[in-house]
Amino acid sequence: MSIELPIYMDNASTTRTDPRVVEAMLPFFTETYGNSASRNHSFGWAGEGAVTLAREQAASLIGSGPKEIIWTSGATESNNLAIKGAARMMAKGPAGSSSRGHIITAIHEHKAVLDPCKRLEREGFDVTYLEPGSDGIITCAMVESAMREDTILVTIMWANNELGTINEVPEMGALCHDRGVLMHTDATQWVGKMPTDVERDNIDLMSFSGHKFYGPNGVGALFIRRRRPRVRIEAMIEGGGHERGMRSGTLNVPGIVGFGKACELCAEEMSGEAERLLGFRNRLETELSSQLDVVTINGHPTRRLPHLTNISFGFVEGESLMMGVSDIACSSGSACTSASLEPSYVLKALGIGDDFAHSSLRLSMGRWTTSEEVDYAIASIVKSVNHLRAMSPLYDLHNEGIDINAIDWQSH
Ligand SMILES: *Cc1c(COP(=O)(O)O)cnc(C)c1O
Repeated sequence: MSIELPIYMDNASTTRTDPRVVEAMLPFFTETYGNSASRNHSFGWAGEGAVTLAREQAASLIGSGPKEIIWTSGATESNNLAIKGAARMMAKGPAGSSSRGHIITAIHEHKAVLDPCKRLEREGFDVTYLEPGSDGIITCAMVESAMREDTILVTIMWANNELGTINEVPEMGALCHDRGVLMHTDATQWVGKMPTDVERDNIDLMSFSGHKFYGPNGVGALFIRRRRPRVRIEAMIEGGGHERGMRSGTLNVPGIVGFGKACELCAEEMSGEAERLLGFRNRLETELSSQLDVVTINGHPTRRLPHLTNISFGFVEGESLMMGVSDIACSSGSACTSASLEPSYVLKALGIGDDFAHSSLRLSMGRWTTSEEVDYAIASIVKSVNHLRAMSPLYDLHNEGIDINAIDWQSH
């Protein structure tokens, strides 16, 4: 089988929309194009019917009721709505006063969680940013010891987007329900890949996004629990009262139809897919760490998503490595391409040194990844790392058994 280059191994950034999803969406652009809020004609009813079906497909994927799904523009909006909406609803004093309530999150959450938390700090809320251990996991015990009398909300992601590490979210859900605290989780990397049951796992608010599981871009959902307890949030977008007043605006019917179809396909295919991709991930990790030395796999060895790996290669420079593997579309822990020279804050949160953070690759596989592509990626990375190390005097010293960190460079 021939391989088309470049190979796509950046599914944690976004996925290809499944052609079956596109097929389901198409009639809603040019045939069934009614506004789902139009109550007086068949165009509107057809739109509303399609949205209702999508709500059921999404609910069935996560174990919620269909009325507990609120449509948004993506996980960034869902996180904003959940975190700011819940905090402002539960706030103890007026905006600007101090000690309006306590929120628990973690330092290596996605920016779409951290930035709303920072906003809330400016509005008078206290936020605790938990630090993970070197395995990247946030445990339930960490959350429990940060809990206070005035804690109103815990927001911890289900699986980390850079590492694939899986936090103890169901345990935190149970703890929160015991204490009368709301539990939000950014499940953008989790939903559609791993079995999800918000009822069993005591989740109150959960964000997820279509383009991370083979649906279209620009459509997300927020699960908002309606009973035991009934969760209330303050709206951010007002005007017209759509989505029971929690998110106004004409619904993106084609996008929502695609989101629903993507949910249905994931429900059918995720277990086989996870098994297949775990085989690929294990092969990537085993081959890279046996064919190369000074390789570390970042994050917990086993508590990780099956399709994603984050690997650092010692004695190579991040930018050169990215250029060397330009036939593999993937992400790097190096942020040198952007304005800052700082490596990934997620990798730094694990205590990984700057050099190893810069020289890391995040490879995330998906529905269309083939066995041949995995083999090609292994060969390409091995070749590139060997090539770069052949030019590295530090790697020579390392091979001569000299401890690089013990050298006093100043005195030479
Ligand atoms: C991609 C991602 C987001 C942002 O989702 P959008 O739908 O692109 O806004 C938020 N959180 C995590 C963990 C993500 O992976």
